[in-house]
Amino acid sequence: LAIKENIKVSEELLPSYTLTQPSTGAKISYRPFTVKEEKALLLALQDDSIDTIINAIKKIVNICTGLDANKIPYYDLEYIFLKIRSKSIGEIVELIGKCDCEETPVKTEFHVNIDDVIIEPAPTKDMGMIPITDTKYFVKMHHPSLDDFIALGEGKDADEIVVDCIESVLTEDDILDKNRAEKLEFIQSISRRQRKGIEEFIAKMPAVKLNASYTCRKCGKQHESVLSGYENFFL
Ligand SMILES: [Zn+2]
Repeated sequence: LAIKENIKVSEELLPSYTLTQPSTGAKISYRPFTVKEEKALLLALQDDSIDTIINAIKKIVNICTGLDANKIPYYDLEYIFLKIRSKSIGEIVELIGKCDCEETPVKTEFHVNIDDVIIEPAPTKDMGMIPITDTKYFVKMHHPSLDDFIALGEGKDADEIVVDCIESVLTEDDILDKNRAEKLEFIQSISRRQRKGIEEFIAKMPAVKLNASYTCRKCGKQHESVLSGYENFFL
């Protein structure tokens, strides 16, 4: 009962915003996280366990958008998390850059604006339709989720991840009804060269980037820096 009351209060007090989900172009409405939720998040971000950190981030995205954070591409998760963070805490993040122009490194304060995030390469609508070279087949794919990357890091076979990302196998006229085992057999029954499109789709996955360049206050040197990947979760 207590939890139910909390949700109701949040719905009444918190504003609602809209963002565009990068991978699909869909409009998603979201709310900021509360101070209470922020405290839980900050506590998790200080944890040594990557699982704890990731679960906290997925939980925030889930409660603030209603999306299943396990099923969206990694860059969607990162982008949506930054949008929520911006509306919950603020879009400006103060950072300190270092320069080794003096014996004691010179520190320069600067800031980044979270709303300046870019996604490169920009996702396109048909990016998931991949022709299999020299055949009549296509595969329809989505990009790997954060969980997929973690599984890969933990030693899961790359083909298993690819299969997780294949929504369907199709031809110009038909969508073929294939189960997981059949999809795996399909991608293992073609040559490396025919699979090039699939490999590239995964390798050239869009990434969320935030420019964090600064000029040293002492020597004026321009330090070019781009935040991406996990770094974005700690802003
Ligand atoms: Zn300097």
